[in-house]
Amino acid sequence: MNLLLAEDDAILADALTAQLRLAGFEVEHAANGAVAEYLLLKQPFDIAILDLGLPMIDGLTVLKRLREAKRKLPVLVLTALDSLDDRVAGLNAGADDYLTKPFDFPELEARLYALLRRGPPVSGGIAFGALVFDRDAHRATLRGEALELSPREWDLLDLLLMQLARVVTKEQISQTWAQDRGENNGAGSIEVYIHRLRRKLEGSGLSIRTVRGLGYLLETGTMDT
Ligand code: CA
Repeated sequence: MNLLLAEDDAILADALTAQLRLAGFEVEHAANGAVAEYLLLKQPFDIAILDLGLPMIDGLTVLKRLREAKRKLPVLVLTALDSLDDRVAGLNAGADDYLTKPFDFPELEARLYALLRRGPPVSGGIAFGALVFDRDAHRATLRGEALELSPREWDLLDLLLMQLARVVTKEQISQTWAQDRGENNGAGSIEVYIHRLRRKLEGSGLSIRTVRGLGYLLETGTMDT
């Protein structure tokens, strides 16, 4: 996944670049609006993160020009501003989503994946750390090796990825399985599948955390077992 990050705050840009690379993105950084516009019009990116308050050319203008040039890549707008007017202006200019600073990285990451899923099918799937998940081809690989998953394990992983960094309840898991397979599932069996999936995801950079009394949470980063 090629991502353009347009952000003039050097500290934030460095931190985001490092985290996005860990999450499997190829990141190009633009420190002002002119560079952002140039790169976006010249290179094929899969997604862009665009700060609105940029030097030289502001983010809103970059976004408008991008849409005028019929570039359809998903754009997530970042801004320190939190007024309804700014949000409306950003969405009118063609932003696909909106995130107000300060934000947590998992929130940004979850929104990026949501935007990528919303877009046209991407050949080869979406990378989550060392895991590549290709929903269309019904294929998952870990470090390039095919990851063998039973139908229930696949559905479970799909659900966890869809709600990356958000809690998935046992009820949601049961519902997903019931919809697809028409089978009954006890809570005990969910724990068994979570345990199996955890083992299969070892070394992927993804880890499944148990949130006591609530459900499960798929995380990226350093929490891997
Ligand atoms: Ca800024």
